[in-house]
Amino acid sequence: MVGGGPGGLTFARVLHRHGYPVSVLERDPSPDARPPGGTLDLHQGLGQLALEKAGLLAEFQTLSRPEGQAMRILDTAGTVLRDWRPRPDDLANPEIDRGQLRDLLLGSVDVRWGQSVTGVEPGDRGGGAVVRFADGHEETFDLVVGADGAWSRVRAAVSPTIPHYTGITVVETSLDDVDTRHPELARLIGDGSVAVYGVNRSIVAQRNSGGHVKVYARFRAPLDWHTGLSPDLADADPDAIRSSLLALFDGWAAPVLDLLRHGASFAHRPLYVLPVDHTWPPVPGVTLLGDAAHLMPPLGAGANLAMLEGAELAEAIVETGADADAADTTTSLEDLDKAVRAFEQRMWARAGKWAKITTAGLERLVSSDPTEALAQFEEVQS
Ligand SMILES: Cc1cc2nc3c(=O)[nH]c(=O)nc-3n(C[C@H](O)[C@H](O)[C@H](O)COP(=O)(O)OP(=O)(O)OC[C@H]3O[C@@H](n4cnc5c(N)ncnc54)[C@H](O)[C@@H]3O)c2cc1C
Repeated sequence: MVGGGPGGLTFARVLHRHGYPVSVLERDPSPDARPPGGTLDLHQGLGQLALEKAGLLAEFQTLSRPEGQAMRILDTAGTVLRDWRPRPDDLANPEIDRGQLRDLLLGSVDVRWGQSVTGVEPGDRGGGAVVRFADGHEETFDLVVGADGAWSRVRAAVSPTIPHYTGITVVETSLDDVDTRHPELARLIGDGSVAVYGVNRSIVAQRNSGGHVKVYARFRAPLDWHTGLSPDLADADPDAIRSSLLALFDGWAAPVLDLLRHGASFAHRPLYVLPVDHTWPPVPGVTLLGDAAHLMPPLGAGANLAMLEGAELAEAIVETGADADAADTTTSLEDLDKAVRAFEQRMWARAGKWAKITTAGLERLVSSDPTEALAQFEEVQS
């Protein structure tokens, strides 16, 4: 398994549960090497099903925040248009912090931290593949699964396709201790998220655990929109980024703009996607799952799909009875390959459907007509 994100760790955890040894090759030097990112909502028939397959659903339920599903929508003048709160027993899409999910999945999984994969070469013996590492060494495995995210290094072994820019970018900031430091913003956000939609732009603030809030400013822009600030937005002065965002959202209600005003640092996340119908011809010994296979707009599906795919591929491998130590390795590699091909068909059908839904959803949420965003919200709720 290349990549220790939600997809890779779920795959490893399910295999581990069935007594199969698996190594996760992860580029990060340690679990806490970088901030884990915002909160994820896990759907009952997707991410939660994957956790059930991993034997972790009960633990998830004690950690997750069903109240985090709450969603408030404002217009740019700050008027509340919708204020949706889940029932206390609504467990359809509870939220969990990414760090908590990672720790839950990690358990006793063997992760080889600090292993950056640079490429994969399919083998020539009807299965197996060679993995190349950044330090120059190589290793051969029966099956290499690329769950290494948007900029996957494994993907090139099966497909020449690379992600393209959607024309929509996100600048992310965050607020700490919102309940004590910014009680007025805590009230604005409520228990879950607040979203404000304008013409071709939006601001969404989403509560994580422990009073931490992620704020996302989303807008249509060319990829180089920030070059007046700095060629790489990561190097730009936060005050300059803040001013340029405030100018972009000029005229919006003051409490909404305070979400940006109080952000200390800013991260640039242009939204890239793979084609909605991305597939590849069979390549023995190599497959992909998660964002590596079907990067789509971040509208609540990507981690869910990656996790379910991880769980399903692991179960498919268990069902073959594949055993890396078996004497008749050729037979078991053939069975493994058949199971992988069947898994891919299933993954493509489901991911293609979600890619279409999230692509259309993004167009409506960042639209020249903000009432489209409301319509999108009503549709998701119904
Ligand atoms: C702002 C935002 C909000 C989102 N909210 C949601 C949500 O609520 N629900 C939802 O389902 N989805 C959500 N998503 C989408 C979700 O984050 C992704 O779809 C999901 O993380 C994909 O999981 P993955 O395991 O495929 O890849 P990733 O999470 O990208 O993990 C890939 C892993 O591979 C490692 N890696 C990368 N390259 C290499 C290499 N060369 N060698 C070794 N290791 C490597 C990385 O370090 C990483 O650990 C959101 C996305 C964003 C940006």
